Amino acid sequence: MSDLQNTASSDFANVRQAMLRGLRGRCPHCGKGRLFRAFLKVSDHCADCGEELHHHRADDFPAYLVIVIVGHIVVPLLLAVETNYTPPYWVSMTLWPSLTAVLSLALLQPVKGAVVGLQWAMGMHGFETSKRNRAAPVQQPSFT
Ligand SMILES: [Zn+2]
Repeated sequence: MSDLQNTASSDFANVRQAMLRGLRGRCPHCGKGRLFRAFLKVSDHCADCGEELHHHRADDFPAYLVIVIVGHIVVPLLLAVETNYTPPYWVSMTLWPSLTAVLSLALLQPVKGAVVGLQWAMGMHGFETSKRNRAAPVQQPSFT
């Protein structure tokens, strides 16, 4: 495997690891500290390793992703149930909005965590300094 392939697969592994840590609500750098200080409020920095996390610019992207994911779950389910079983209206009017709300609330924080992890791993926005520091070789003191 060439150096370029090694670098690419290593970058992919780092991005995947940071996104999985964010998905679990953990700091993308150390995986231990809490990423969120409230439901959707990202901590300013990691309490465990001190990594600055306030640089994220997730904005509305997690909400868009949740809409896409929930839509791809609820709409096929709704169509399958409505065409095959034709439940009473009151069941449809309580089941589908409730399922949509529960899934949306359940997915919003993990998806936002994954987006913050992605931004951190890619060095986007204010995370570029952090990425540069992670990539820099360790300076050995010279004794000449
Ligand atoms: Zn940390």
